[in-house]
Amino acid sequence: MATRNSQQLFAKAKTVIPGGVNSPVRAFQAVGGTPRFIGRGQGAWLWDADGNKLLDYVGSWGPMILGHAHPAVKQAVAEALEAGTSFGAPTEREIQLAELVLKAYPACERVRLVSSGTEATMSALRLARGYTGRKLIVKFRGNYHGHADGLLVQAGSGLLTAGGGSAASAPSSAGVPQEYASLTLVADYNLPESLEQLFQQHQHDIAAVIFEPVVGNAGVLVPTKEFLTALRELTRKHGALLIADEVMTGFRLSFGGAVELFGLEPDLVCWGKIIGGGLPVGAYGGRAEIMEHIAPSGPVYQAGTLSGNPLAMAAGIATLQELSKNPPYQKLEDYGARLQQGLEARALAAQVPLSVNRVGSMITAFFTKGPVNTYAGAVGSDTQAFKIFFHGLLDAGVYWPASQFEAAFISQAHGEPELEQTLAAVESALARLSAL
Ligand SMILES: *Cc1c(COP(=O)(O)O)cnc(C)c1O
Repeated sequence: MATRNSQQLFAKAKTVIPGGVNSPVRAFQAVGGTPRFIGRGQGAWLWDADGNKLLDYVGSWGPMILGHAHPAVKQAVAEALEAGTSFGAPTEREIQLAELVLKAYPACERVRLVSSGTEATMSALRLARGYTGRKLIVKFRGNYHGHADGLLVQAGSGLLTAGGGSAASAPSSAGVPQEYASLTLVADYNLPESLEQLFQQHQHDIAAVIFEPVVGNAGVLVPTKEFLTALRELTRKHGALLIADEVMTGFRLSFGGAVELFGLEPDLVCWGKIIGGGLPVGAYGGRAEIMEHIAPSGPVYQAGTLSGNPLAMAAGIATLQELSKNPPYQKLEDYGARLQQGLEARALAAQVPLSVNRVGSMITAFFTKGPVNTYAGAVGSDTQAFKIFFHGLLDAGVYWPASQFEAAFISQAHGEPELEQTLAAVESALARLSAL
């Protein structure tokens, strides 16, 4: 497969953009090789700068549930474009998108629109602190909530073996002061006792617990029922807010996201990705009594020059309307189930240890015997094997996420021919592994 143009563009990009990319995972660092520069997309397919046609399982890392260049989205954006792109004044489309989000999440009464998932979680946490008057927050190992300072934090050493949350947190990025990191406690996903321990140690100081209701950012981790129950019970008992980060899962697992799928009762919900239909949008919402603490109604400040941007609103509205009119969720589940079974059967035949985690259209094939239920389980995967698998797929025209620890996404444009090509590619990629 020719990659000359992508190689040249990547070399040139590196002279003007750090690492040649505007978000690290795009650089293929975990798998090696040249990242493909994308020229265009249509449905489930991408065409790269060398004209290669690639079957897309990245879906812009989540937003493209309708597939690329969906006609309804294109038309909505084109109409909005005609009328001007930004005013810094309220517009009617903001009400429409807010109404669509609130309709899907009946327990939420107000929603504030921002421009990214990072902004949504960062603002929700500020709101939780402003509302409770408390300082500390809790996140889970391997859950990603965007790149705000207080969220680029890892557990101190010892957590992995102790299975408890007692070690002090440390920054996971240069530039994040230890003082910020100390305000974020880190517990273990699917191990409720680690959260309980933190509440015992910091009873009256925890403002909020934020979590991914299905983890996508460590690869897919599926929550246990006990874990979800404990999250709600412990936060309620200790007066902390529960924040469901549905930036990835919202409108993907079902129209009402994980909240609807699992019957969750979070105090605040964060959205992003799908609600922008491929344009930059984020949002956070909850009961009016909490949300009215945000400026200008209340004392918690949050603002944005491009918040509620007309083009982004148009793409988001068109996407949510389409998902509501023609729900793709059963089709996504069917495709996902067949992809999972296909992966499992072929791995078994090739005698490659593989553990597939999936909820609906989010799927990860971990190169380990599994089962993978925790972050520690995920990081036990064979990343060398993943690399070979990834390049095997890519050489067969299947564009899988370039990291063992990212979810692959299915869109409604993925159909029978796509599934066939994928499973043939899986077979040849696995053959490379069993030939080693
Ligand atoms: C992608 C993601 C974010 C960050 O969203 P950005 O738009 O990239 O800032 C936050 N939380 C979760 C769960 C995500 O998947």
